[in-house]
Amino acid sequence: MEIKIERAKTLKQKPDQNNLGFGKYFTDHMFMIDWDQDQGWHDARIVPYGPIPMDPATMVLHYAQETFEGLKAYRNPNGDILLFRPEMNARRMINSNKRICMAELPEEMFVEAVEAIVKYEQDWIPTAPNTSLYIRPVTFATEAGVGVHPAKSYKFVIILSPVGNYYPEGVNPVKIWVEDEFVRAVKGGTGFTKCGGNYAASIAAQVKAEQNGYTQVLWLDGVHRKYVEEVGTMNVMFLINDTVVTAALEGSVLPGVTRDSIIHILKDWGYKVEERDLSIDELMEAGRTGALKEAWGTGTAAVISPIGELCYKGEKVTINGFETGELTQKLYDTLTGIQWGRLEDKYHWTKLVK
Ligand SMILES: *Cc1c(COP(=O)(O)O)cnc(C)c1O
Repeated sequence: MEIKIERAKTLKQKPDQNNLGFGKYFTDHMFMIDWDQDQGWHDARIVPYGPIPMDPATMVLHYAQETFEGLKAYRNPNGDILLFRPEMNARRMINSNKRICMAELPEEMFVEAVEAIVKYEQDWIPTAPNTSLYIRPVTFATEAGVGVHPAKSYKFVIILSPVGNYYPEGVNPVKIWVEDEFVRAVKGGTGFTKCGGNYAASIAAQVKAEQNGYTQVLWLDGVHRKYVEEVGTMNVMFLINDTVVTAALEGSVLPGVTRDSIIHILKDWGYKVEERDLSIDELMEAGRTGALKEAWGTGTAAVISPIGELCYKGEKVTINGFETGELTQKLYDTLTGIQWGRLEDKYHWTKLVK
């Protein structure tokens, strides 16, 4: 792929690495490529970060034909740049775009675009502990016109943001609100895709959780409001006695790269992992009896997020005395160790950006 480069006339001042927060700062440049029916994907370019002018009738604004991805670039102790399983994000975006009837950027072009913009903006990759460069690819419909049908033109854009911890609390247990009114996804819907519409549908429950003093929502399935699916924008796992239980991927759950990696590591360590229906009643009962030893969310942004409390219909259960569990911590240390290149990458998950 030939990528044209237009350099920004002035560069921004870099933010304080110890105070990055999450998703607040953006780098000097972005990657962009267009698609239309005649030319396919064309005009790949790196341009100054800035507004994208659009017609008020642009279809993404009306019908939400939009998907996104999230991955990170890390500096290893040698100063090299690492990506973590970027081909998984490329494939997931293809699956998302298929479902939303949008043009799909081929896997090799996706990975090449990520590498190109990360390399070009490499001075923005922070080096302070637990920091990284968050990579946000997005595809959206650019055709102007009112009327529901697949658009005839799309843009694929990558923006970059230097980030610290996702939660201001850092790696500490969070309190989770089990949502029994609003639902996120149903089988046959778009739950397995990273499309913007899913998140629009989720905000009301998130607001409700926060109003009640909780950090995140635990979603139940959309039909019975009975089976545990995800927590906020993370997959969720429970250590019940000595078995790790997580929802199976059957259409309503997002197939997380972190989820897949953690399941791999757990099996490698000899843990029994069950991908199955887990009812909220079974979970709360395990919480009451103490069979529920640990619980955590998995996702690129927060990596591993320990869960210290669940609240369902007014009943609260505390997990592991509201302390980060031993297995949770070991998983966090192992995965972040591989991602930041501190531990040997025995699974060949990291990709060196040359
Ligand atoms: C992105 C996301 C995840 C986590 O996926 P990763 O690939 O591990 O970052 C889980 N659930 C939802 C709803 C998500 O949007």
